[in-house]
Amino acid sequence: MTALELVDIGANLTHESFRADFDAVLARARAHGATQILVTGASAGGSRAALALALAHPGFLYATAGVHPHHAHEYDEATDALLRELSAQPQVKAVGETGLDYFRNYSPHAAQIDAFERQLQVAIDSGKPLFLHQRDAHADFIACLDRVRDRICRAVVHCFTGERAELIDYLDRGCHIGITGWICDERRGQHLRELVRLIPADRLMIETDAPYLLPRDLVPKPSHRRNEPMYLAHVCAAVAAARGEDAGLIAQITSRNARAFFALDA
Ligand SMILES: [Zn+2]
Repeated sequence: MTALELVDIGANLTHESFRADFDAVLARARAHGATQILVTGASAGGSRAALALALAHPGFLYATAGVHPHHAHEYDEATDALLRELSAQPQVKAVGETGLDYFRNYSPHAAQIDAFERQLQVAIDSGKPLFLHQRDAHADFIACLDRVRDRICRAVVHCFTGERAELIDYLDRGCHIGITGWICDERRGQHLRELVRLIPADRLMIETDAPYLLPRDLVPKPSHRRNEPMYLAHVCAAVAAARGEDAGLIAQITSRNARAFFALDA
């Protein structure tokens, strides 16, 4: 596995669970092939912190700047101004995580749609691609995207876990697709093993979504529940197995896609 070169397009490395052993987490990530990691910004403070990590680890860590739908009720003028400031920074490679989440509904739908639309506009104005989240909100999500479709450059639907029709809707709109260790879940990830074959090679990317979504089929099973970027190689292998392709090939194409999509250093 160590020969693979992988890009993790979504890791929540500003999460408090990484505070105690952050350097060790990065060292393990590198030892398991992660050459570049996008640190997800999911709130105003989190986006600031993600940029700080990117600045401290140039060429290895990069940031996104956005407000997750869970935090949509916090989105105000100051947040909008901050995201505009952050998205102008060269180390900030995408606007997001933004989108809609009607599964948890931590913010009311109207607030989620408003924060999503404002971040779509930040992406349009900054020219940066979009890092998108959608759960149980497909119709509204597509409606928002369609209103700006000809003005955004690139978009990735991260942590895709949906059904076939949703995937087709994203692919029809030119979206890239991010696959996490959800595909390793024998209870709820089975359908993804079929659907991942439908993703064109030039629009497939992989991610851990660490510290969430620890792959359920790791052997030996870790004693903890925390996911980390070192397990991206495991996600890569699962995607490769599902597509009937070589893990080396999946590493190569997903890394190439990620570097082009996020305009990372070569
Ligand atoms: Zn998400």
